[in-house]
Amino acid sequence: MFKQLTKRYLTILFFGCFACVVFKSEVVGISNLPAKPVYQQNNSPYQPASTKLHDLIHTKLEVKFDWDTQQLHGIATIQVKPHFYPQKQLLLDARDLIIHSVVLLTNEEKKEAAYTYNNQQINIDLDRLYTKEDAILVEINYTTQSNQQGAKDSFKLGSNQGLCFIHARGTGPNKLQQIWTQGEPNTNSYWFPTIDSPNQRCTQETYITVQDNFKTLSNGTLVYTTLNDDQTRTDYWRMDLPHAPYLFMLAVGEFAEIQDDWNEIPVTYYVEPAYEKQALTIFKHTTEMLDFFSDKLDYPYPWPKYSQVIVRDYMVGAMENTTAVVLTENIQGDDRALLDNIDREEIIAHELFHHWFGNLVTCESWGQLTLNEAFATLGSHLWYGHKHGSYERDRLILKSIEHYLKEAQLRQVSVIRDHYISPIEMFDSHSYHKGALILHMLKTYLGEEAFLQSLSQYLKKYAFSSTDIHQLRKVFEEVSGQDLNWFFNQWFLAPGHPILQTEHTYANDKLVLKVWQKQSAPSPIYRLPVAVDVWVKGVKERHHITIDKPYQEFSWSVSQRPELVYIDRNSLLVAELKHPQTTTQAYRYLYSHYEDFFAKYEVINYFNTAKIDRFDYEDFFKEVLEDDSYWMFKIMAIEAFEGYHQQGKYHTIIENILTDLTIQDAHSWVREAAINTLSSLPNPDSYLDVYEKSLADSSYRVASAALYAYGMYSNEEQGSIKDTILLSFEEYEDIHMITSLAKYYTHIKKTDKYEWLKKKTTDFYTHLGYESLLTYLVDYVCVIGNLAQQEETFVLLEHILKEEKMVRIRSAAYHALQRMPKTKAVKKLLADIKED
Ligand SMILES: [Zn+2]
Repeated sequence: MFKQLTKRYLTILFFGCFACVVFKSEVVGISNLPAKPVYQQNNSPYQPASTKLHDLIHTKLEVKFDWDTQQLHGIATIQVKPHFYPQKQLLLDARDLIIHSVVLLTNEEKKEAAYTYNNQQINIDLDRLYTKEDAILVEINYTTQSNQQGAKDSFKLGSNQGLCFIHARGTGPNKLQQIWTQGEPNTNSYWFPTIDSPNQRCTQETYITVQDNFKTLSNGTLVYTTLNDDQTRTDYWRMDLPHAPYLFMLAVGEFAEIQDDWNEIPVTYYVEPAYEKQALTIFKHTTEMLDFFSDKLDYPYPWPKYSQVIVRDYMVGAMENTTAVVLTENIQGDDRALLDNIDREEIIAHELFHHWFGNLVTCESWGQLTLNEAFATLGSHLWYGHKHGSYERDRLILKSIEHYLKEAQLRQVSVIRDHYISPIEMFDSHSYHKGALILHMLKTYLGEEAFLQSLSQYLKKYAFSSTDIHQLRKVFEEVSGQDLNWFFNQWFLAPGHPILQTEHTYANDKLVLKVWQKQSAPSPIYRLPVAVDVWVKGVKERHHITIDKPYQEFSWSVSQRPELVYIDRNSLLVAELKHPQTTTQAYRYLYSHYEDFFAKYEVINYFNTAKIDRFDYEDFFKEVLEDDSYWMFKIMAIEAFEGYHQQGKYHTIIENILTDLTIQDAHSWVREAAINTLSSLPNPDSYLDVYEKSLADSSYRVASAALYAYGMYSNEEQGSIKDTILLSFEEYEDIHMITSLAKYYTHIKKTDKYEWLKKKTTDFYTHLGYESLLTYLVDYVCVIGNLAQQEETFVLLEHILKEEKMVRIRSAAYHALQRMPKTKAVKKLLADIKED
């Protein structure tokens, strides 16, 4: 019933201002064939940029909160003007608000305005016809719906409700009282009336009244703070630069606030008080990123401050609210957890880069979302390349390739699209990853200098406005002097990607490369400028070709049969490439003659997946391990030796290498993989001293791998020192530690651990990444077979499925429920959910 978790699982917190993706590391190889994807029909509604009847100019919000009913009481004063045509009415988005009054403010005079409200929009009658030279000022007094209403809607939306009260009652374990908002794509109108479209922007003032123990955060700078007579405090935040309504935010909580500084612009980090000491580590490099991006874009960070706040129960990875980024709680952790969290900077860089691409220049409609998200994804790639080198950058690029190809197996749409049902659909791997990969290919095609200069020019030209893809293209064309319609059309405006089949022949001193484009309509026939390397007598000759037909041949004179014909992947990031003639020998050649990440990865991945006998390529993988290679390649090689048999040619050598790695490797994920593979070898109990040593490793991942192996293979008697050691790990709150113990206790059917596991589960399953505890609890009670415990677990799952707001947790509970014995009650609940 249990699969031993010897494979490494990558939990990738996907910043992506929306997607939280968990995926397994055994990747969709670059060359794997997708199943038949679904091409999206254009029968979804047309969703153009919103018509601008009015332009927002300024928004003033005065808000206070009722924790008991989880409501916000607000006064919104909104200044607009007709965009072009004279208007007699003003239409504002206001979702599920309780409207108390709408007042028109004219010449210091207040006039009640007539209005209609349909729970989505307020239509206000103006007192006369207003022209584009006029300013219109309205004041709306309102209250948000109590949380129940919001919760229902969030269930439907699957992601958010605009305004969230976290743990409003303030009692219970592991919870902190917080309020935070999430506005993208169009949910800020759940907590204030506005024109909730990305092609609007305005300046902003926010007065937030809270009990004095809370800190507040909003966009712009904190101008002053006033203590009120009723023990509350009002913080006044002001943002003098215009930004889009979906970027408005507020957060309230008992945060620890840590000041950093960058070029006299305040940089602040808000974390839970327990992590105050770690804040500077969590947000390490933020100021260096500000330098790097300002410099790279030749456009200094344009906003008056930069804050990042970590909140509880946040449903997405992070959100780039202007000057006040919200991040999910699992990027904070104690010192040991931070060692393992290798991609924290990816999120931080992504949200920061949005402050140019997204916040300064904004996509004009959600169909153009890639103008925000492809760039933000690219931003983290650029940062990793700068700070950590090309392999770390390319690892992130590979992750983008995998994300896109995985999604492309199910559906292929154009990156820019006007037809969709809900804007939430746009927050997919096409907008983020395919978009970013296209930008990389454009960078390769135009050269880095032209590419960066185009970005800079685009920002300067369109600062504080919204754009579509053609405006971006025009800037690239102006800078490079080239027509780029073909490039933008095939990559951004058409679905799919190239599927190339290649073959080469050699005869009479001539090499012929045949290339077929195998993708089918509606994917276009692509124009692909690529480099082909031909290796003869150990010397590489690089040829630049353009593939632009369904079938083509390219030929070159060569003095003998080449050792290798290799198409460079760097200009073909979004493609599947099949070159069946590449032999084992050619792959070995490729590995030893290229330093390029993608070339190396392709070889290791090939040997990992192509082997017939698991250990056909033991020589190769041993070489990779001895090479002192890149950590990710090392892990792939370590995993290749899982279950390596005693008769293996290098058994002793591999044992020694793995043992050394568990102690000496600088990367905790490598040490973890080494322990997992050691414990998969034929005599796992002979490495007990290794496991015991690693129990004290500074990394939780390593210690928990060691813990499981130690539990499984130490033969000491019950009640011995072994039990004492295991018991001492029960206190930990780290997910790796908890699941290692849970798996072990389940495996050996240890009957007295139910209370411990139940407590861990109920305390922590709402934490991001901890929802899997529900599954471990179910597996445990099933194996132990105690009916009362099973019943109690069922009640917990039922409660979550009926009451829990967060989709990921309901989804985890559903999957856990499916593993329960199929009693009447379980069957009924499963059926009810299906119907729902
Ligand atoms: Zn983003």
